[in-house]
Formats: sequence, structure tokens, C-alpha cells
Amino acid sequence: MGDSTGHKHKHLEFTLAAVSELSSSSSVSSSSTPVIARFSADDGVAALRFHQGSEFIDGFNVDLGTSQLFKLGPLQSLCVSESADTNKEGVSIRFRNEEESRDFHSAFEQWQMESKGTHLPNGDISVSKSKFDNKIEPSSAKMYFHYYGQLLHQQNMLQDYVRTGTYYAAVIENRVDFTGCVVVDVGAGSGILSLFAAQAGAKHVYAVEASEMADYARKLITGNPTLGQRITVIKGKVEEAELPEKADILISEPMGTLLVNERMLESYIIARDRFLVPNGKMFPSTGRIHMAPFSDEYLFVEIANKALFWQQQNYYGVDLTPLYGSAFQGYFSQPVVDAFDPRLLVCPPMCHVLNFNEIKEEDLYEIDIPLKFTASVGTRVHGLACWFDVLFNGSCFIDSTVQRWLTTAPGAPTTHWYQIRCVLSQPIYVMAGQEITGQLHMIAHNAQSYTIYLTLSAKMWGPGAEQGGIIQTSSCKLDLKEPYYRMSQPQPYTMAQDQQPHQLLQAEDIPPIHTEDLDLEELELLQQPSEPLGAQ
Ligand code: SAH
Repeated sequence: MGDSTGHKHKHLEFTLAAVSELSSSSSVSSSSTPVIARFSADDGVAALRFHQGSEFIDGFNVDLGTSQLFKLGPLQSLCVSESADTNKEGVSIRFRNEEESRDFHSAFEQWQMESKGTHLPNGDISVSKSKFDNKIEPSSAKMYFHYYGQLLHQQNMLQDYVRTGTYYAAVIENRVDFTGCVVVDVGAGSGILSLFAAQAGAKHVYAVEASEMADYARKLITGNPTLGQRITVIKGKVEEAELPEKADILISEPMGTLLVNERMLESYIIARDRFLVPNGKMFPSTGRIHMAPFSDEYLFVEIANKALFWQQQNYYGVDLTPLYGSAFQGYFSQPVVDAFDPRLLVCPPMCHVLNFNEIKEEDLYEIDIPLKFTASVGTRVHGLACWFDVLFNGSCFIDSTVQRWLTTAPGAPTTHWYQIRCVLSQPIYVMAGQEITGQLHMIAHNAQSYTIYLTLSAKMWGPGAEQGGIIQTSSCKLDLKEPYYRMSQPQPYTMAQDQQPHQLLQAEDIPPIHTEDLDLEELELLQQPSEPLGAQ
């Protein structure tokens, strides 16, 4: 940071409407002489002090290294400092107008960052790295939070009515879990889930959001004052933010494609360990990855054909074939994202369960799933289809067999996650009743996604098997960060044809909230006759 050395002798002042100390309830207002908040680093340590005229107001000191600033309203903020003996002290600040409040907040962030930093010999400051920074490539994080900082992408999620409607229903029908409770919204985005939690009677909601969306969330929350007065937006990563109290319940929507893409589940688990009281609730509490082999000749040919371009031997006089093999491999390393017909599945699915209350963050660095299926039909298997669901296990379900799942299964109302298919460049042949084994091995990488290693094997059927059980095996390596959004096929719901999946639902298209037991539904779907998709 360029001005860190010069900073030592700098200061910055703000005129306030009033300031009061919480523990002693002593208050000073600007009625006669203006009250000034002064950031300074005169003695090398950044601090915030308050003055009235030339008089220093005693007992209102704020140590920027251990303090957090919370916005309680457009003109009201609370600065809480956690001293060494963990007693919390607070200074309540009233601003003269919203602009001064905003400027004060950004100055606070700036000075705090520098005070938390370590002075290097050259006078620069290095801010100590968080768990997030240690494992994620800065350029990836920058692009990621830039994406979520834009309203259009938040709108895309809000317009996924299956998603948002299921969250709304899960919160409202479990209001008993929220009423009078402290809630943390992990990755709050627009703040929608915080507002739902406030609607369900939360005592206070801390909406933690790292992207610039935090400013919009503040705006949305301020514009809904009856709910907003119980919500505090904290701009920062959940790995770094400090909260003034523990949460009774966490709410979050941390799911990416294949559940784990974006690696935000890890942040959800870190938030659990940092903010949640023992035995606190998590909304959602469980995630499941479902998998089944599929047969889709059209998809296979479509992908293989993409590489045909590189078969040209006279492209403006240039032989392109040296790159054919690499191009072919490249296309098969992209997981396909679309909504497919569940009749393409050739085996009953299996699932891998992640219990968010119990798993460790490190458990998500490498996920190894042994696969075992029995083919329902004789066909060519082109790969593995995957989808996920998450469970909201609220108290209202304790004595009930009905649980609310948010599912992204094929055949269920389509969500903005669609489904994922990993396509093998070498399909395998199976007969009805034949066993298919294999492995789905996913290794997290520092670009907030996973490298996927898939192997599927089928024991030879008939005479071959008796003479030593020859095995057909096919493997592929994919990068979950580089999906192929295949949206040109007819879809169950209207959607835009651009690069990112969108849903352009009309009000009358709003799908009903899906509550059925997924496994039952999957079985029903599988009982339908197998036929290829894409004949339309
Ligand atoms: N809860 C909102 C937004 C979900 S998208 C909704 O349901 O509509 C996930 C959000 O989490 C994004 O806005 C993203 O910027 C934020 N996020 C992701 N990782 C985070 C982290 N480590 N700390 C804070 N926010 C994070």
C-alpha cells in the first residue's frame, strides 16, 4: 500500500450528529459544539477517537484492530470493540446525513485494514491472509465476486422460482426455528434470505456478503424498514468478518453446479465453525449428489463432431490435424450443463450424502465416490449424469415424515443449476442386469472449482466373463470450471439462449414448489420406457 508510511502522521475527521457509549449510556451531541470522529495514526497505531471542539471525549476510544462497525440504519451505526478479556464495548454513532455515513464506513474499512496489517521492513503493510485467501487464487476470487456484485446475476437467481420459492417456503413454514433467534445469512447477495428470516421473526440477522452486492443489499434492506431494522449487512468474507454475537441458525444458498462447484460450501462450513452456537441449526442441513449412467447418442455425436474442424488438412493451406487429438480431448473435458430427459438414465441412481452439520471443511477438498449400478436396459453408456438436492430440516418436520427438499433432478421443474453430464470419449456397452462399477473422484482446485476424474467399468457379459471376466473400462478427466452450457435443445421451460443459463419465466409458468420424496420420483421416472432424447 503506497501511502502506508505517510499515513503515520495523517488523520481524517468526520463531523457527527451525536455519539454515545453503550455501557455507561453517556451521550454527546453536536447541538452546541460539533462532535468530531477522528481517525489517526499519530503514534503508529491507527485509532478512532472522538472530540467535541478541541476537547477529547474520554472513554470513547476505538481500537481499529479489534473493532467492527455495524450499520443499524441510514444514519445510525454501532462500533463494537472486543477487548482482550472478551468484554464487548460499543459506541453508537449518529450521522448528519447518509453520504457522511457512507464515507465514514469506507474510511473505517480502509483504516482498519491498515491497522490489521503487519508492517514490513520496507514500510509496506501486509494484511494477514484468511483461510479463503490461502486456498483461492486472487484472480479467481476477483472475477467471482465481480460476477456476484452485479444485480443481473442476483436477479437470475431470484428469478429461479423453484430455488427462491423453496427457500421462502422452508423459512416461513419453520418460523418457529427463526422467531426470536439470531441468524447469519452466509453469502447474503441481495439480502433476500435475510429478509425472509426477518419475516419469520428473527431477532437479528447478520447478512455477510463479500462482493459489492453488499451495498445493494443495504439499500434493499433500508427500503424495507420494518424488516430492515433487524438486519445488519456486513461487507466481507465469512472467513474474515467478526460478528458481535453467535448465531442460533445459519441460512445460506452455497450450492454450485454438482453441489460443490464454486467451493462456497467450504465457506458455509467455516461460517458454522466461526458463528454458530453448539447444536445450532443450518438451513440447509444436508446436501446429496445423485448419479446415474446415461445413454445419449445425440450428445455424444455432437461433442465428437465439434473436434472435426481440426481434421482439415488444407485450412488456408495449413494441416490442422496435429491438433485434432487435443481438441477432441478438450471437448470431452467439459461437463455438459443442460436439462435432460430422465428417460436417458439407464440405471437407478445412487447418492452421496454431505451432512453440513458434521462434515469438516477439509472433507470437501477431495471427494471420492465409489460407483456401483445395475443396468436396467441393454444400451451404450455414454457417461455419468449428476444432480443434487438439499434438505431444510426444520423443527416443523420433527414429527412429520414430510421434509422439504430443493431438488435439481431431471424431470423435476428446472432450476438455474440444470443437471450435469460427464461424457466419456469411449462409450461402454452394457446388457440389462449387468453391473457397472467405477469411481467419481473430485479434487478441489484454487480457481474455486474441481477437477473430476470419472471411471466407469462393465464386466464382460456372457462367455467372455466366464473365461476370466474381461472388463471394459472408460475414463475421463473434466474441469468443472469449464462447463459446456448446452441450451439449444428444447427445454422443459423457456429460457434464453445466451452463455449463462437464464430462466425467463412468465408468472403463469411459475412451477409449483417441489416437495415429493425424490427417491420415489426417481424410481417412477426410471420405470418409463427408455428412449433417446432429441428426436423432436
Ligand atoms: N443468498 C443470496 C445469494 C446467493 S449467491 C440468494 O440466495 O439469493 C452466493 C453469494 O455468496 C454471492 O453473492 C457471493 O458473493 C457470496 N459469497 C460467496 N462466498 C462468500 C464468502 N466466502 N464470504 C462472503 N460472501 C460470499
